[in-house]
Amino acid sequence: MPYRLLVADGVLALPGGPMRAALLCDANRIVAIGREVEDPAAAVLDAQGLTVAPGFVEIHVHGGGGASFLPPGPGALERYARWAPAHGVTAFAASVAAPSVESLVAALQLPFAGSPEGADFLGFHLEGPFLNPARRGAFPAEWLTLPDRGLFERLAEAAGGRLRMMTVAPELPGAADVARAAEEAGVVLALGHTDASFGQAADALQGAFTHVTHLFNAMRPFHHRDGGPVAAALLSGATCELIADGEHVAPEVLRLAYRVLGPSRAVLVSDAVPASGPGPIARTADGTIAGSLLPFDEHARRAAALLGVDVSALVRLCSANPARALGVHHRKGSIERGMDADLILLDRELRVVATVCRGRVAFLSEPHRFRAAPSR
Ligand SMILES: [Zn+2]
Repeated sequence: MPYRLLVADGVLALPGGPMRAALLCDANRIVAIGREVEDPAAAVLDAQGLTVAPGFVEIHVHGGGGASFLPPGPGALERYARWAPAHGVTAFAASVAAPSVESLVAALQLPFAGSPEGADFLGFHLEGPFLNPARRGAFPAEWLTLPDRGLFERLAEAAGGRLRMMTVAPELPGAADVARAAEEAGVVLALGHTDASFGQAADALQGAFTHVTHLFNAMRPFHHRDGGPVAAALLSGATCELIADGEHVAPEVLRLAYRVLGPSRAVLVSDAVPASGPGPIARTADGTIAGSLLPFDEHARRAAALLGVDVSALVRLCSANPARALGVHHRKGSIERGMDADLILLDRELRVVATVCRGRVAFLSEPHRFRAAPSR
């Protein structure tokens, strides 16, 4: 008999707004939503006093929980997938970079042995190697190379259909060729680590590029007489990543960007790196920001505070929009019948009380809220 889970008495963050209702999962799908929904044979997760939101979809992360994707070794994807639900993440794309083509190919060939209690692996985001050395951020220059269609095809083949997104600097020679190949292969093109002029970036975003990697960070800065890639991104229809920890981008700049992007185009990412250390961000020896040390749920709480958004908008930034940016919105990122049963229960302070991955309770901080299905 398939496993059924009833999430009872919570306030559901539905696409149309909040609603107090129950939700029934059958195996890995949401099968019913409504005030009258019941199932005496199901296990029960009591969501009284809590918000039931779609699980966070993390599309820019370099590791966590002891796992590194720079590059990933055997077991790293599984380790992250097991750790992530405690931070509200129910699905993720692994952002991969590596010192050589050989190690990149090996990383993209890694198998993923998912578990029912882990976050779903959505595929790889390649952050490089076709990045502008002038805007490389914390990536060593030796890790980068000029865009090359043959190399792109080799990497895509190694990933075996699991290459979902690639960050490319569109102004580099050969980038247009790679962009065409990526479009043909169904790989999302993200503009980033770029020194593009406003015109170059605008052209890319009118073409094959549909997403922007960490807006403001590792790109030519905005200037009032030279808007650069930031202005092109804000004026485009692309989804744009924001690292909203208050450190990568000044709070007032975040608020300004969000005023333009609105709740339909802003995508919250952590860009978290596996290193640990004091403070919220990692830095290289020369002081360059090398990513965040905070898990996704902390980013979500900070974003809510800095941007002043309610849960409905936050859910779009953290779940629906990243799912759409990656092209998996038909099964991830919102609470609707037929969607994957990826859910989080949040308290008033937006702390994660429980996480459900594809219909299974993957994390629970208040054990009394769960009741197993009656045996028959
Ligand atoms: Zn990154």
